[in-house]
Amino acid sequence: MRVNSKQPFLVQKLAEQWSENNEAPSMPDDKSWRGSMAGSCARQVAYRLSDTEASDPIDLAGFWNMGLGSMIHNELEQAIHDWADSQPNVEVIAEHEMELGERGYGHADTLVIMDIPWVGKVKVLFELKTVGGFGYKNMIGLNKNKYAEGPKWSAFVQGAMYASAVDADLLVIGYLAREGVSKNMAKNYSKSEIERMGAEWHYTKEQYMVVAAEEIERLDGISAAVAEGRTPSEIPARFSKSDPEIPFPAEVTHPEKGAWRLYAKDGSLVNAGTTWMCNYCQFQQQCKGDTDDVLSRDA
Ligand code: SF4
Repeated sequence: MRVNSKQPFLVQKLAEQWSENNEAPSMPDDKSWRGSMAGSCARQVAYRLSDTEASDPIDLAGFWNMGLGSMIHNELEQAIHDWADSQPNVEVIAEHEMELGERGYGHADTLVIMDIPWVGKVKVLFELKTVGGFGYKNMIGLNKNKYAEGPKWSAFVQGAMYASAVDADLLVIGYLAREGVSKNMAKNYSKSEIERMGAEWHYTKEQYMVVAAEEIERLDGISAAVAEGRTPSEIPARFSKSDPEIPFPAEVTHPEKGAWRLYAKDGSLVNAGTTWMCNYCQFQQQCKGDTDDVLSRDA
């Protein structure tokens, strides 16, 4: 029997039970947006802030991936505390909570404070993510062109906001692969033992501060617009100002395909492309309907 069953009832039940146990962390009542919304499309943020029911709810596979990430985080929290306890001059604050701008709130994974002789206290904001094996390989350049994509832009922006809120000297974005790189592949690409399962990217204040300020302003702006009564369909489907893949102020014109367009003031097309984000958006069908409505009104 090599062919898998089309009715996997035990795996199905397990996954369903798992998905019921996922809850977003709490935050104060006077806050509206979360740090995890970093880099998201402005309209998607508006749908979430206005409590719009998801037209495309997270499926079981999505819950599974998120759940694996949480499980890894929980397991590693103790390890990081054990490490800090064994170091004379290191303090670790896990799940560090913070206000972001006027209306935002965040839970940073770890704040590490090191007391270094002759230097003083150095604050390191550590944001840790997990990623599938394929995505991880692309991040560190294990592909045909040896092109390292680096961390996801949204992870950097989220970490940048947290780092700016605590005035960190260094922002570290860490990624752990949910599937390690084979020994052979690591050897062929001259990667070390640790790089087979994890990698870090480091950013100084000069590198993260501007991005953090822009994103906090953007998310506060969306939140204010929703509070004033603007509907998500009135919020342009735009992304972060400094998003390297989608030039600001390009807008998604076809949510069902993730197609975006950038027009000049005279109406001529300047640039166009697609984003994977729409296919993972919980409001894709709703957004398609809203976009069609806007287009038919403008026609
Ligand atoms: S479907 Fe795309 S454009 Fe629409 S809200 Fe979601 S991410 Fe934004």
